[in-house]
Amino acid sequence: ALTLGIVGLPNVGKSTLFNALTKNSVLAANYPFATIEPNVGVVELPDPRLERLAEIFGSERILPATVSFVDIAGIVKGASEGEGLGNQFLANIREADAICQVVRGFADPDVVHVDGTVSPASDMETINTELILADLQTIEKALPRYEKGAKHKTLDPAMHSTALEAKAVLDEGKLLSSTKLDLEPIRELGLLSAKPFIYVFNVDEEVLGDSAKLEELAALVAPAKAVFLDAKTESELIDLPKDEAMELLASLGQEESGLDQLARIGFDTLGLQTYLTAGPKESRAWTIRKGDKAPQAAGVIHTDFERGFIKAETVSFADLDAAGSMAEAKAAGRVRMEGKDYVMQDGDVVEFRFNV
Ligand code: GDP
Repeated sequence: ALTLGIVGLPNVGKSTLFNALTKNSVLAANYPFATIEPNVGVVELPDPRLERLAEIFGSERILPATVSFVDIAGIVKGASEGEGLGNQFLANIREADAICQVVRGFADPDVVHVDGTVSPASDMETINTELILADLQTIEKALPRYEKGAKHKTLDPAMHSTALEAKAVLDEGKLLSSTKLDLEPIRELGLLSAKPFIYVFNVDEEVLGDSAKLEELAALVAPAKAVFLDAKTESELIDLPKDEAMELLASLGQEESGLDQLARIGFDTLGLQTYLTAGPKESRAWTIRKGDKAPQAAGVIHTDFERGFIKAETVSFADLDAAGSMAEAKAAGRVRMEGKDYVMQDGDVVEFRFNV
């Protein structure tokens, strides 16, 4: 599964957030045969559509999609120079598919800040500088080989030119993810700052209701997405029954827990989307990549479904919801037969037809 790597300076609330995520873990309940690693938290992707489908189809159970987070401990200034855990840290980030950077916004004077003051902007700069420096090293190491390869026509010359363009971006102190540069020719380098980013601002409860402050923080990271939460509150919410948790959230002016927001935005940042299946046994969300076509989507259920794909009987959730039943949706002409070139849309409710 694709994963989001959680990074951030010490004492910003990573462990508090990660513990809340793992307490929320669905693995044990729904996926008994999955291996659980201590630094991986797997949470449900909240999807109210599944409850409605279960109602329509009389499903016995609901299986949401999941989102995986990996706790990547140990970034410090100088990580790119291989200090302390630096090398291991960078290797762990390399394996993550997107980066979730936790930034401290809470004031609490009892919790020491590594740099002495709480400053989201300078914290982000510290982390991002390490990623940029690590990428510069990677590129500088590869450049002589790319240059030779271009000269002797043993390598695609685009590798050399792209590496130079990427280096120029990094030299300006910018993350590669902040540019439109096509890095495909040098994909093999696994550049860290090219990964999709989201920022989690761990702020005090009061700040969650202060829209001016939130906008200010969001502007710091745009166009990357920001999630605002109070890690301490989140870890308390986890222990409450659902209705009490919703009440507490409402009292803070929130409609959704920070963890749920993080799951949704994280899933989206990974480039993923879901389609839905429903029947008397279960209503279920399946994870695919944005842009996947119907046969690939079928393959997520079973490889035989992809190989023997004939058609996908498809209705949008909105149409099915409005119709109230599959029969009514069909009668209203809302159910389509899609072929192998159909690009899946978020919220498609599907039944595949296939040869075995
Ligand atoms: P990490 O080093 O980034 O993993 O940070 P921790 O999760 O261990 O948190 C460091 C300290 O800050 C702990 O004492 C936490 O209880 C505290 N802390 C974490 N999140 C919050 C928060 O949202 N508000 C306050 N006031 N304290 C927090």
